[in-house]
Amino acid sequence: MLGTLCRKVTVDMAAEKHLEEKYDEIRKDLEKQKAALLAEAGMIIGTGLNQDKLNFPDMTDQAAAEADNNFTLRLKEREQKLLKKIDEALERIANGTFGMCESCGEEISYKRLHARPVTTLCIECKTKQEEEEKLRE
Ligand SMILES: [Zn+2]
Repeated sequence: MLGTLCRKVTVDMAAEKHLEEKYDEIRKDLEKQKAALLAEAGMIIGTGLNQDKLNFPDMTDQAAAEADNNFTLRLKEREQKLLKKIDEALERIANGTFGMCESCGEEISYKRLHARPVTTLCIECKTKQEEEEKLRE
C-alpha cells in the first residue's frame, strides 16, 4: 500500500521535472551519437568534446571557425546532416523547445523522441509529410 503511494508520488514528481532533466537520457544518447560521429570522422575523443577550446583559450573565434570548417569537410554529407540535427536537438533541449512538433506545436511522444531524438515532427505530421512527399514523386 505504502509502496504504491510512493511510486505514484515519484511519477508525479518526474512529470514536473525540468525539461532538461526530463530529456536527460535522450540528451546523453544524442551526445553519445555525436561523439561516435566525431570519432568516425577521425577526431580523437579525449576528456570532452570541447577539449580543443579548453586547451587553447586564446584561440580566436576566426581560427576556431576555420578549424571547424576543415573538420566539417572531412565528414561525409550524410554524417554532416545528422551531426547538425543532433546539435539542433541538443540546442532545443538546452533552450526548452525540445519535444515540440515543428508543424502543429503539439508535444511529441516520449517514445517517439526516444527512438528518434532528432525528429522535429510528431508522428501525425511526419506521416502527413511523407504522404505529401510520395504524392510529389
Ligand atoms: Zn505535429
